Amino acid sequence: MMFSKRLKELKPYIPGEQPGDANYIKLNTNENPFGPSPRVKDILNTFDPENLRLYPDPLFKNLRSKLADKYGLLPNQVFAGNGSDEVLSFVFFAFFDTLNGNLIFPEHTYSFYPVYCDFYGISYQKIPLKSDFSIDINSFLKTHEIAGLIFPNPNAPTGILMPLKEVEDLIQRFPKDRLVVIDEAYIDFGGQSAVPLIDKYNNLLVIKTFSKSMSLAGIRLGYALGNEKLIAALFAVKDSFNSYPIDTLTLKIAEAAVSDMGYYDKINKKIIQNRKKLTLDLEQKGWNVLPSSANFIFTRKEGLSGSHVYKKFKEKGILVRHFNHDGIKDFVRITIGTDEMMESFMSVLKTEF
Ligand SMILES: *Cc1c(COP(=O)(O)O)cnc(C)c1O
Repeated sequence: MMFSKRLKELKPYIPGEQPGDANYIKLNTNENPFGPSPRVKDILNTFDPENLRLYPDPLFKNLRSKLADKYGLLPNQVFAGNGSDEVLSFVFFAFFDTLNGNLIFPEHTYSFYPVYCDFYGISYQKIPLKSDFSIDINSFLKTHEIAGLIFPNPNAPTGILMPLKEVEDLIQRFPKDRLVVIDEAYIDFGGQSAVPLIDKYNNLLVIKTFSKSMSLAGIRLGYALGNEKLIAALFAVKDSFNSYPIDTLTLKIAEAAVSDMGYYDKINKKIIQNRKKLTLDLEQKGWNVLPSSANFIFTRKEGLSGSHVYKKFKEKGILVRHFNHDGIKDFVRITIGTDEMMESFMSVLKTEF
């Protein structure tokens, strides 16, 4: 038939619901409730469509030099792509070879990782979390035949942060010829980034996104930071797939956003405040909340199933995320929103549970 064998074997990732219905309060996909920097609006108001006649810069030179400045790196230590999901897919292709063993990642983590493994035929091993749902670096290190390691910090969907000291201890004790990838999608909500370790460890790659702390999920932009050889490998993959994954307007928007970090520090501090308040409010109502350093919390209440909680909230117009995975079925993940969103959430919780 006209469908390939490869297609039949695909096991696609299932993204969170995007109902396209403004009547829902969306607390299910960790978007930022506060909107991008006002400088993004200025770009959209003044952008000359004439600029769209030409292809974008395939090397993203301006954006890479702005990001390099922000982190004290060189532009050739920066790669970017169409969302960090695309960057991650290039990373899996470039660095994780089954001949070397299994890629390892935590048992409960970003569920796109096993999807990429299946897509590229990479074998993997999930490493159980500790009983408090934190990552157990000793089990990572005890594992043999490792092709590489990837984990989000803070982890998703738990929200639990690995302190930078522990991150460095892990990298130090990890095989030097195997890559450690840290997915820092949520690091700006209270964690310490591993970027300062990049010049010390050639086998460290840090992945970041504009979708969460920069409030630009709609432009699809993510990037990778690491030593120049790793970055050159990612360019080789990109240019074997699509030379222009980032469009001209997205590049301009991102450059404007990066120039306004003061704005982002302010809104993300507010998210941290709202996270603390929501955590206390839930605990007061007898809910158990894992300690989060992200823009979401992972919570459960004894005697309630996560799918029941999800359904009840949806009936009342609030979307939260439930993962039907063994070991975390009784949890729901709730994105931190504005004061008003959190008040609506708590008022439903108080009447329904
Ligand atoms: C949201 C998220 C991403 C994807 O980000 P995009 O840049 O929007 O593709 C990657 N990793 C983790 C852990 C995430 O939660």
